[in-house]
Amino acid sequence: MIALTLNYHYMQLPREVIVGNGTLERVPEVARRLGLKGKALVIAGSKSYDLAGRKICSLLEESELEVDVLQIKAMSIKDMITIEERIEKSKPQVLFGVGGGAIIDAAKISSGSQNIPFISVPTTVSHDGIASPLASIKGSEKPYSILAQAPLAIIADTEIIAQAPWRFVISGCGDVISKLTAVKDWKLAYQEVNEYYGGYAASLALMSAKLVIENAELFVYRRDEGLRVLLEALISCGVAMSIAGSSRPCSGSEHLFSHALEMQNSHHGMHGEQCGVGSIMIAYLYKANWQTIRNTLKQMGAPITANELGVKDVDVVKALELAGKIRPERYTILHKLNLNFEACEKTARATGIIN
Ligand SMILES: [Zn+2]
Repeated sequence: MIALTLNYHYMQLPREVIVGNGTLERVPEVARRLGLKGKALVIAGSKSYDLAGRKICSLLEESELEVDVLQIKAMSIKDMITIEERIEKSKPQVLFGVGGGAIIDAAKISSGSQNIPFISVPTTVSHDGIASPLASIKGSEKPYSILAQAPLAIIADTEIIAQAPWRFVISGCGDVISKLTAVKDWKLAYQEVNEYYGGYAASLALMSAKLVIENAELFVYRRDEGLRVLLEALISCGVAMSIAGSSRPCSGSEHLFSHALEMQNSHHGMHGEQCGVGSIMIAYLYKANWQTIRNTLKQMGAPITANELGVKDVDVVKALELAGKIRPERYTILHKLNLNFEACEKTARATGIIN
């Protein structure tokens, strides 16, 4: 765990980032450059094991590493304990997390608590957890992310990622675009409650959002270059969080809205989809250009209404009201405005999220 109360600023950054077609083949050279020896533990879901995990295991064995595999079905607190116990017993030198957001998060938390490095091998691009030092566990008392550790390396193979449903890609775009309002909240917290604000980390998150918006057409036509743009944006967001030492540059009230939706509903949209919708409403509250966020998401085919998210109108309103209450220490515009149900309803209606 990283101590943030000290009088110096600590940044933990990935050492190697490899993005592109067929990058999985580069596992042996990454292992060599990083000087990996002894045992590696590979954790994956059943799908991600078939997609990439099996191949990584054989590549590592070819590199003369001893390989231990743990396949995880769901990703709960129980699974987390299973991984930590396996690390304690098997004593690997490094942990490979192969899969979507939940697997990567589990790898991050368990490796961090057991003091071994982890390597992130994402098989989807639905959110920015692939490179960040933060992670969340489903079913824990905290619905939002906690500080764990940054990956030692990220190996993102677009050939594998392209096999995931396109909806994951669009969700990733929503997560990146939502940084437009996350950064506004961070700045507000700096101005009004004197919170630490890092201009460099904020700029990096903003630039990622702008690049995805500028390249929206690549996502409309489902072009492979889009995957590359998105991956680089998600990794830059992860690095922004590493530089800030918190999720601040990438997670504001639009993320609180997404967490609130999940807290009150078992049926909901994907993380990035919800953050995108949240970002439209938060930009409106800032009297900023919410239309650009809405229009870009719409153009990409991302949800922009409660109905498209698969939730009831009233749930969007309730979630917006609840969002300002779930994390009092994270000051945002929702904490400043302290909106009641009627004001939340007005916001959702004015932005076309509900009708
Ligand atoms: Zn996010």
